Amino acid sequence: MSTEKVKCLIIGSGPAGYTAAIYTGRANIAPVLYEGLQPGGQLTITTEVENFPGYPEGISGTQLMEDLRKQAERFGADIRNGIATSADLSKRPYRITIDDEKVIEAETVIISTGATAKYLGLEDEQKYAGMGVSACATCDGFFYRKKTVAVVGGGDTACEEAVYLAGLAKQVYLIVRKPFLRASKIMQARVMNHPNIKVLFEHNAVGLYGENGVEGVHLVKRQGECNEERYDLPIDGFFLAIGHKPNSDIFKDYLDTDEVGYIITEAGTPRTKVPGVFAAGDVADPHYRQAITAAGSGCKAAIEAERYLSANDLL
Ligand code: NDP
Repeated sequence: MSTEKVKCLIIGSGPAGYTAAIYTGRANIAPVLYEGLQPGGQLTITTEVENFPGYPEGISGTQLMEDLRKQAERFGADIRNGIATSADLSKRPYRITIDDEKVIEAETVIISTGATAKYLGLEDEQKYAGMGVSACATCDGFFYRKKTVAVVGGGDTACEEAVYLAGLAKQVYLIVRKPFLRASKIMQARVMNHPNIKVLFEHNAVGLYGENGVEGVHLVKRQGECNEERYDLPIDGFFLAIGHKPNSDIFKDYLDTDEVGYIITEAGTPRTKVPGVFAAGDVADPHYRQAITAAGSGCKAAIEAERYLSANDLL
C-alpha cells in the first residue's frame, strides 16, 4: 500500500471541511482534503439555502458548496476524490487509509465527515430502494411530478422536503408519529398552509406494498391511549426525513462518541481526546447542525491544527 505524509488531512467536504481547508490553506499548511461519499456534503442535495449569512436572496446548496471549494483551492488546498475507509489514531503520525488502497500519514486530522440520512429500518425500504423509496426529495422529486408521495418525519427536513415535493407532486402526505411537528414555526406554517400537503399526525408507516415499485404504504394510526387503526394509503413515492446518523464509525476505537455516534469534543472546541485530531461540523454536533455552525467549527479546527503543528515544531 502506498504511503504519503501530510501536515493536515481533512476528511469530508461539507461546509466544515471546506472552511477548514480555506483556513489551513491560507496558513500555508498545504492541507489535503478527501471529499468522501458525497462531494459537497448534504447541502448539495438541498434546494435553496436561505439562512447562510451573506446571501440576501438565498443561494442553491450546490452553488454554495462549489464556491467554498473554489475558495479552498485558491489557497492551495489539495482536494481529492476518495473515502476514508479505516483509521489508526493510536499514535502520531495518524494513519488514515483511503479507498482501502492508500495510507495518508497525517500530523493533524480534521474529521468533518458529516452525517447520513436515517431509515426507519423496515425491510420494505430495502426491497423498494430505487423503486419508490428515497431519502432525498431534491434528488428524486423530479420522478414524482403529478403523482402522490409520502414524507416521513416532523422536523425541519421533513417539512422542507414536503414543501419541495408539493411543488411537483399532486398530493403530499406528511407522516408524523407525534401529535405535533417539531419543525421551526415558519416551516410548520408553510406545511400547514399548503393546499397540496396533508399532515397525518400520530401515524406510523409499518410497511410498503406494490408489484413493480411502491404503490402504497401500510399505516398505523394511534387513537387514544390503546387503540389503533390500520389502513393502506396509495402512494407512488416514499421519502424518509427522520434525521441523520453521524459518520464516525471508523474513529470509534480511538475517540469518544455519544450513544448516537456524535464525536465528543472538549466543550466549545473541536478538540477530541486525541491531540492533533479535531472534529468539526455535523459529525460532532447533535445540537445545531447548520451549515453556518459547521463552517464555524471548521474554522476553529483549522486554527487548532495550525497551533498544534506550531507548538510541536511540525510546521
Ligand atoms: P430532527 O431530528 O429535527 O427531526 C426528525 C423527525 O423525524 C422528528 O419529527 C422525529 O419525530 C422523526 N422521527 C425520528 N425517528 C423516527 C421514526 N423512527 N419514525 C417516525 N418518525 C421519526 O431532524 P431534521 O433532519 O429534520 O433536522 C435536523 C436539524 O437540522 C434540526 O436542528 C433542524 O432544525 C435543522 N434543519 C434546519 C433547516 C433550515 O433551517 N433550513 C432545514 C433542515 C434541517 P419526533 O419529533 O417524534 O422525535
